[in-house]
Amino acid sequence: MFIIPYMMVSAFGLVFGSFLNVCIVRLPRKESVITPRSHCPQCQHPIRWYDNVPLVSYVVLGGRCRDCHTRISPLYPAVEALTAVLLALTFHRCGFSPEFVKLAVLGMLLLVLIFTDLLERRIPHPVTILGIGLGLLFSFFIPVDNRPLEWLLRRWDWFLEGPPSWVTGAMAGALIGGGLFYAVGEAFYYLGGKQKEYLGFGDVMLMLMVGTFLGVPLTLMTILLGSLFGTLLALAFTIAKARFRDYPWPYGTFLGVAAIYASLYGARLLDMYLRWSGFAR
Ligand SMILES: [Zn+2]
Repeated sequence: MFIIPYMMVSAFGLVFGSFLNVCIVRLPRKESVITPRSHCPQCQHPIRWYDNVPLVSYVVLGGRCRDCHTRISPLYPAVEALTAVLLALTFHRCGFSPEFVKLAVLGMLLLVLIFTDLLERRIPHPVTILGIGLGLLFSFFIPVDNRPLEWLLRRWDWFLEGPPSWVTGAMAGALIGGGLFYAVGEAFYYLGGKQKEYLGFGDVMLMLMVGTFLGVPLTLMTILLGSLFGTLLALAFTIAKARFRDYPWPYGTFLGVAAIYASLYGARLLDMYLRWSGFAR
């Protein structure tokens, strides 16, 4: 019987994933995600409601438009399936709790950005601005790891706890995440003789958003893991094929994947590290 809630959240994931697809395709083009109704990009024919069932329709239609038989991008079923997996993993991690809602929202915002950056090299501001707002809102009700600031303030006998600590933790996370990215981006820009922008402002906005959800420690972990993951992948590709030397890697995609990992499993990893290193006593 334990499988039933997983099936439920996965079904919700498929439906939400279907909407995330609309966001991924339309937001980089600055189009509305509400109107017009979905239509075939080739023949413009509106998609019938029974051809719009997540995952199932793609299989039934054999991956082709019912009207003009043009291939439908496998991106659509992939994003739907990924959203279902994301929600199932989040449920496995938190059960039905406020934390589940928060991490599911963060994961879905990140899924949109992972794909817009991968496909179009864009990190749309409507997503990140909405995310920053929601992250701050959640921090009034749901704990954010604020240990660095709490530790710092204890030096002056100021004991921060409860919602004031969570909210300041979210703001500190945004400041550190976005600020670090902004500083590094500017430094590279000047060191590189103002030739090339290494980090876009979209990456800064992405990290502001991640910071409000995760707080300082997990935001730093996101930057560390995202950079490591991106560098290793870029290195492997460059060694395999020289033409990847100047390939514009989607940094936001790596950061997004790292942030999803950190949001679900980062706390455990951090505690393990703190205990091992002897910082937590
Ligand atoms: Zn068509």
